[in-house]
Amino acid sequence: SKKAVLGPLVGAVDQGTSSTRFLVFNSKTAELLSHHQVEIKQEFPREGWVEQDPKEILHSVYECIEKTCEKLGQLNIDISNIKAIGVSNQRETTVVWDKLTGEPLYNAVVWLDLRTQSTVESLSKRIPGNNNFVKSKTGLPLSTYFSAVKLRWLLDNVKKVQKAVEEKRALFGTIDSWLIWSLTGGVNGGVHCTDVTNASRTMLFNIHSLEWDKQLCEFFGIPMEILPNVRSSSEIYGLMKISHSLKAGALEGVPISGCLGDQSAALVGQMCFQNGQAKNTYGTGCFLLCNTGHKCVFSDHGLLTTVAYKLGRDKPVYYALEGSVAIAGAVIRWLRDNLGIIKTSEEIEKLAKEVGTSYGCYFVPAFSGLYAPYWEPSARGIICGLTQFTNKCHIAFAALEAVCFQTREILDAMNRDCGIPLSHLQVDGGMTSNKILMQLQADILYIPVVKPSMPETTALGAAMAAGAAEGVGVWSLEPEDLSAVTMERFEPQINAEESEIRYSTWKKAVMKSMGWVT
Ligand code: ADP
Repeated sequence: SKKAVLGPLVGAVDQGTSSTRFLVFNSKTAELLSHHQVEIKQEFPREGWVEQDPKEILHSVYECIEKTCEKLGQLNIDISNIKAIGVSNQRETTVVWDKLTGEPLYNAVVWLDLRTQSTVESLSKRIPGNNNFVKSKTGLPLSTYFSAVKLRWLLDNVKKVQKAVEEKRALFGTIDSWLIWSLTGGVNGGVHCTDVTNASRTMLFNIHSLEWDKQLCEFFGIPMEILPNVRSSSEIYGLMKISHSLKAGALEGVPISGCLGDQSAALVGQMCFQNGQAKNTYGTGCFLLCNTGHKCVFSDHGLLTTVAYKLGRDKPVYYALEGSVAIAGAVIRWLRDNLGIIKTSEEIEKLAKEVGTSYGCYFVPAFSGLYAPYWEPSARGIICGLTQFTNKCHIAFAALEAVCFQTREILDAMNRDCGIPLSHLQVDGGMTSNKILMQLQADILYIPVVKPSMPETTALGAAMAAGAAEGVGVWSLEPEDLSAVTMERFEPQINAEESEIRYSTWKKAVMKSMGWVT
């Protein structure tokens, strides 16, 4: 049968905490042509520990590529039109592997993992100079969240890691590095690199000089030779070379030319290229990023300063202020996997709709302590305000409301730091298919919530970076391309007063969640 004629296509790997996706876009129209998604297992070997299997993650990428190529074939689309591949990934999650065997030396320690709490406490007692040492260089508070302490833990506790470092066989990377190294040949010449956005989440990277920081590496005791090369977010890193995986081998030789941490990718995919433009992504966690242009803005209200993107070797760097919430979609997954009150995440909407209120029940899902704006590792989850009237529907509603309240907290912080309040909120991520959640969010923020009709903005951002790279040049980032994006809007429906009362009760609940662990 005749193959459809199309312009150049660009593929994107979107490796998230919950799942892996591979998506293929038409570079001329930004239309999503086909995709495939595979859920990723999470292991909780001890209280507060969160791990994933790096091999499972890699194989999920192969599987998604293969299945997407199959689907394109069924659509009569020739996969040789795929001219570039971008990678976007869950950030901070830490992998150490052996460059001679290609084997991971331990599970990936996931960003949500809390095992390094005591490491963080002891490090914070010996911060050199003033207390600003880490924050002024990295934009980050010293916290379990970032890679440096996870890597420190692996070096202190895993014999295989120690031995491989001694024998100069060890490579460290966040998920982007692990995937790009593996996809460009692994033990047969894989490229060990990362991009500035991912590097900026390790707590080892100087966000002003855009280099690994010697003093930080000394402070955390990290040998610099295991770190990947830091590149821009849009350039050719290497070519696909995965011959051992049969069908995915169809993309052999295609350049991997885009790399962005997922939240940066979403910022790009939402076209937030101007100073002051912001987006909020509702995935496993919730991340509100506001583009601050070429300037590093430091927060007085618990937000992080981070690298937004650098779309080309010779292109300028953009920074962002970020409000990070650890648990958003993860609370829905918890209700599914740990309590079993729903069978699929989508079912939460039906339960919440049945009651339309939490009936005074508040759910603070501080499973991994609280991130922004509190940065309180001692917090743990609570469900409060229960009566004999409370049922699972109210708890479902309270879980959705918790996501909205947490977003309100980071939006308030953002407005205080930026001075100019956001007039609306651009949103994306897996949870935004939930209409009740979106309406609740508009009600609780009291501003409109705006969602692009093509929700895969993270993948789109990675595809844009890959397609626009020097030497690829099939995607133009000119603003006129962008006006065609259609949006769905949710307007606030309850009155501001009611919204404030609910919000202040939420804050009371947050205070009760703190100080559980001492
Ligand atoms: P990530 O990028 O972190 O892997 P996604 O953006 O893929 O996350 O979103 C997945 C998360 O969203 C999961 O935690 C899941 O429980 C949640 N989720 C998915 N669909 C819904 C829904 N309809 N309502 C509420 N939560 C949902």
